[in-house]
Amino acid sequence: MKVWANGQIVDEKAAINSFNYSLHYASPAAWEGIRSYLKLDGSTLIFKLKDHIARLYESAQIEGFTIPWRPEQLEQACIDVVAANGGGNLYLRPIAYCANDAESIRSSSEDIRVDIYVVPAESKLGKEVRVAISGIVRGYPQFQMQAKTSANYKFIQTVKKELEHRDVDDLLIVDNQGYITEATVANIFVKKGKKIWTPPNDGSILPGITRQWVGNSVRGVEERKVTRADLYTADCVFLTGTYSELMLVTEIDGRRVDRNTALFTFLKEKFRRETIE
Ligand code: PMP
Repeated sequence: MKVWANGQIVDEKAAINSFNYSLHYASPAAWEGIRSYLKLDGSTLIFKLKDHIARLYESAQIEGFTIPWRPEQLEQACIDVVAANGGGNLYLRPIAYCANDAESIRSSSEDIRVDIYVVPAESKLGKEVRVAISGIVRGYPQFQMQAKTSANYKFIQTVKKELEHRDVDDLLIVDNQGYITEATVANIFVKKGKKIWTPPNDGSILPGITRQWVGNSVRGVEERKVTRADLYTADCVFLTGTYSELMLVTEIDGRRVDRNTALFTFLKEKFRRETIE
């Protein structure tokens, strides 16, 4: 696959040396995950490109570094690298990082670069998953989850390690008060009767672009703290994310939670139409 390496489309990976600043300190480094879709007319759609690039700049702003490209340039770079790879169903990973050596002191001379990697992507739309609540707590403000930074994914890697020893497909993360925040790399929605809840953007979740899409697609989504009991007694629970798309949760901690999935089916069909037609 071809890579957009800080301004140039190259054949090989835009390899950094292992004495790299961001690799050693996990910061400054911010990235995005973006999907492109092959539409029925043969064209390619990059889903919510502007929103993803805008969040990349917000992540850098929170982390405290400046991306030396304009957002329009990075949007065009995504379009170019998708075209260079033949278009279709792809997953894009733009990453902004510091290319200086690890011994250098962060200063005005820091060399921030952006590379955009691309890999083929399979659809996850409508996948059914069994989940459990992780015992590992993630608190704000130690973690500022509004930023999609490499440093935040250290925690997520710890939860993924726990997942290797659990007989479920994903784990839900609680905040330091015990409220449910999100899954490892997806936001969560809970439907009970006529109510639809999603945890608030209070620093403990990544405010997902797919989460926003759900909020714009159905009326009455309420941002509200979600308890374990809310989940266990829900009619329908689902996960949203660029990689995950929309996944139906069938079981949480051994309790079935797919009593009424009409809302999920509606959203799944709407999402399919908007990304394919
Ligand atoms: N939370 C986390 C921690 C994530 O990594 C992701 C995936 N980017 C999401 C939520 C979902 O966000 P989005 O819909 O923007 O992909």
